[in-house]
Amino acid sequence: MKMVYNWINIIQDYLLPPTCILCGNPGCNSLDICASCYDQLPKNNQSCFCCAEILDIAIATPMLCGRCLSHPPAFDQTYAPFIHQGSIRHLIGNLKFGSCYKNARLLGLLLAEHVKQIAEPPELILPVPLHKARYRSRGFNQSIEIARTVANELNLPLDLHSCIRHRDTPHQTQLSAQKRRKNLNHAFSMIKPLQVHHVAILDDVMTTGSTVHELAALLKKNGIAQVDVWVCARA
Ligand SMILES: [Zn+2]
Ligand SMILES: [Zn+2]
Repeated sequence: MKMVYNWINIIQDYLLPPTCILCGNPGCNSLDICASCYDQLPKNNQSCFCCAEILDIAIATPMLCGRCLSHPPAFDQTYAPFIHQGSIRHLIGNLKFGSCYKNARLLGLLLAEHVKQIAEPPELILPVPLHKARYRSRGFNQSIEIARTVANELNLPLDLHSCIRHRDTPHQTQLSAQKRRKNLNHAFSMIKPLQVHHVAILDDVMTTGSTVHELAALLKKNGIAQVDVWVCARA
């Protein structure tokens, strides 16, 4: 991790010392994770250039997975620094189902650090909307919580009002990729036009990619030329 310390960090650390969410040891670099737990996070180092699917071969140059070659998704590129397993899975799970909000800040800072180094900055960040029934039962949208930190770190605007999810997809995890795509058809609508050319869709986890594909397709249909996907982890 890069050691970036300014006086704000120093005062914050003094008042509220960062503590590793995973093991309780002092945090490193103003983050709520220690150096040792950070080193053990499952990094997604070899993945498809387009959808970030984890490839089981070492690659030297950017490559596309078989699925992106045969059925290119609507989005252009995916940035997913981690694999959805081990402590990353734990951090995301506790955020979503245990309302551990400080996990959102940590995940947001880790994602921001990753995209800052390699991604072309979009004009705005669009967190994947939740259906209102899901939002009501959970009380928050984990993607928005993560996106707030990322937007703040990168000084980019957040869009929370242009798109809505008007169909809930409650049993997504139990469906095959093909059925997921079908189940998601027309799940999102744009209710306010966006006057931009480049958007980053942000989500916590990308599993098959069908959710972000659907949202990206809607954005492209509405004239947005470049749609990237930023997710904390790829399953
Ligand atoms: Zn730790
Ligand atoms: Zn791919």
